Amino acid sequence: MFSIAIDGPSGAGKSTVADILAEEYGFVHVDTGAMYRTIGLYLLRNQIDPSDENAVSKALCNLDLNVEYIDKKQHVYLNGEDVTPFIRTNEVSTYASKSSALKPVRDYLLDAQRNVAKKYNVIMDGRDIGTVILPHANVKFFMNASTESRAHRRHKELLEKGESITFEKVLSSMLERDKNDSSRKIAPAIPAEDSIPLDNSGPIEETIAFAKNVINERLGK
Ligand code: C5P
Repeated sequence: MFSIAIDGPSGAGKSTVADILAEEYGFVHVDTGAMYRTIGLYLLRNQIDPSDENAVSKALCNLDLNVEYIDKKQHVYLNGEDVTPFIRTNEVSTYASKSSALKPVRDYLLDAQRNVAKKYNVIMDGRDIGTVILPHANVKFFMNASTESRAHRRHKELLEKGESITFEKVLSSMLERDKNDSSRKIAPAIPAEDSIPLDNSGPIEETIAFAKNVINERLGK
């Protein structure tokens, strides 16, 4: 199996780039953030404090999370319900980020993520794919973009989904999430030593062209 890891902060454009590359190479795009978001949604719906390790541990026992690929598109199921349309709100982002710092949550998702990579050729995006989940990935990218462009991307996404939120609010919660994600003790969002920096501040075509060169070389194309 061939695997590509794309890590980086929120709003860098990992998902968009991973989608395009997955289509190009016929790989499955595994969006690991969606799994953390599904747990976040469960905690939010059940009014469980996402930083309370005991309460979150207990909640995980009642939670059945499934990931399926329908026409190569990822769907996440929470206790049998397809919650894919409900996990992209700003509130769910905050719950996902807070609970993702807890060991029981990371342990809960570790095998689920590794198992997909055993079954399919994958482009997996997240925060710790190159460092923890797939340390032997064939290609590892660490993607970034300017803070401004990341916040604009997130803001646009949320407005398109019908959430009424100001740019300032998006920016401040994004910066807080980045700080939590990169400074946490377990699996912080930092580049793997052997990762290749991928800057996505400019036109996406340039990012894709750069990534394809690296991937083709590793595929021996
Ligand atoms: O990538 P996305 O913004 O959807 O991720 C939501 C949250 O899930 C992140 O802020 C991060 O806290 C957490 N996450 C993580 N590890 C991953 C993917 C996401 O901790 N591999």
